[in-house]
Amino acid sequence: MTQDREKIRCDACPVMCYIAPGQTGACDRYANDRGRIVRCDPVTILSKTLEQGGRIVPFAGPAWDGEVIRPADAFVTGIGAGTTYPDYKPAPFIVSTQVEGADMVTVVTEAIFSYCGVKVKIDTDRFLGPEGAVVRAEGEPVGHVTTAEYGSQMLSLGGVHHLTGGTKPEGRVTCASMLALCNGEAVTLTIDGGSTVIVQAGRAPVVDGKEEHRMRVGCGSATIGMFAAQWQGLVDEVVVVDDHITGVVSEHQAGKVLGWQPTGIKVKGHKSTPGRYFRVSEPGLGWGGTRITDPLEILGPWDGKRGARAGLTLLMVSTTGEEYAYYVLDEALQPVRQPLPENLQATVRLIDENCEPSLCTVLFMGGAGGSLRAGVTKNPVRLTRSVQGRETRLTAGGAPCYVWPGGGITFMVDVTRLPRGAFGYVPTPALVAPLEFTLPRDAYVALGGHEGAIRSLDEIAATGGEYTVAGKLETWPGGEA
Ligand code: SF4
Repeated sequence: MTQDREKIRCDACPVMCYIAPGQTGACDRYANDRGRIVRCDPVTILSKTLEQGGRIVPFAGPAWDGEVIRPADAFVTGIGAGTTYPDYKPAPFIVSTQVEGADMVTVVTEAIFSYCGVKVKIDTDRFLGPEGAVVRAEGEPVGHVTTAEYGSQMLSLGGVHHLTGGTKPEGRVTCASMLALCNGEAVTLTIDGGSTVIVQAGRAPVVDGKEEHRMRVGCGSATIGMFAAQWQGLVDEVVVVDDHITGVVSEHQAGKVLGWQPTGIKVKGHKSTPGRYFRVSEPGLGWGGTRITDPLEILGPWDGKRGARAGLTLLMVSTTGEEYAYYVLDEALQPVRQPLPENLQATVRLIDENCEPSLCTVLFMGGAGGSLRAGVTKNPVRLTRSVQGRETRLTAGGAPCYVWPGGGITFMVDVTRLPRGAFGYVPTPALVAPLEFTLPRDAYVALGGHEGAIRSLDEIAATGGEYTVAGKLETWPGGEA
């Protein structure tokens, strides 16, 4: 930082704010405190045994209490650690630790990610929008619909092209949307040619104003496989309506093996294999993620020569058990709706019971293979190799990360496993996320680590960091990483 009249310059990111005394910079993370640039938030230290979190302990002061936070039990996270951008000097905290008697080192930093994104899994079969459709926040493009997964719709948000490759509003809104999602806040997203969905990590999605409750038990074919035996003897035919595969028990392999008799049913759709039909409808917000509100729409005429008869009973049910209807064929082989018999109600309830709660899952994905490695080691590629070889364990705010195989250090982390408010931003725009690299001390020295910058927790408490003046003691979410 350099002095300029009464303002001083923050060099923690390329924006290089000049900050007046008592003011914060553009990202609200750094302030001018009586002529010194300080990180506004204390560094978060997680403890497995601390009973009550949230206690602030000033560094370099008498309030540090070794009884409250024991080094063997504490983990210094990157949350509030500060950055040293560009990374020409050692990371803010390089902490010596003892793990089960072994000498370990944790390199703690707060990293700025221009290359980052958010992967969102939304547990619903309802149609959110076509694959590849643009996802918008406040009217700005912030991502796209990607390939659906089993029982879930997937969005890919952020990324360098939306952050810095488009207009300024696009970059600003993309950054703000990702930041809100990563910090556990709700964000309203609209999908071109599809729905409006409110997404919040760990909460149920709200699709076009309606909160989703259940994730489907499986596709229509899987549902037949799971429950065919329990329907036998209670009903003559079962159709499980699903946008992916609609199942028909009398034709399905599971039904054949169990001895279900042909019923002369005709399903409109593209037959895949016996008892499994694709495209019975367009995708939508109706039964099983189709547009259907009246399930009889997907049935053709019943064939008396193939088993249809007056009195034949039919259960039609969606893959969540939320929608169901029971019919009896009349003399003209027309299905007539009847109340669901008591003994079949239990089978529908069983589908319902086997559905998991519908949730939104938000994974932050970033690339830590760039210059921040210089804050860890003088030979950056050795850190990459050490992480790829699992000698170095990567965590974000104490949460375990999945590191992609291949080049670089490209990782993903479940944002609900970090303490709330762990993410920040800079107006370049880019997201800021905490990172910790933990490895044996010997290995750290061998890969060219900044050995002279290693400090114990007591030493850190006594002297603080370049920007950091306090620690915040928190209980470890879920007990441990
Ligand atoms: S945006 Fe924040 S980190 Fe960047 S220079 Fe300004 S105060 Fe420092």
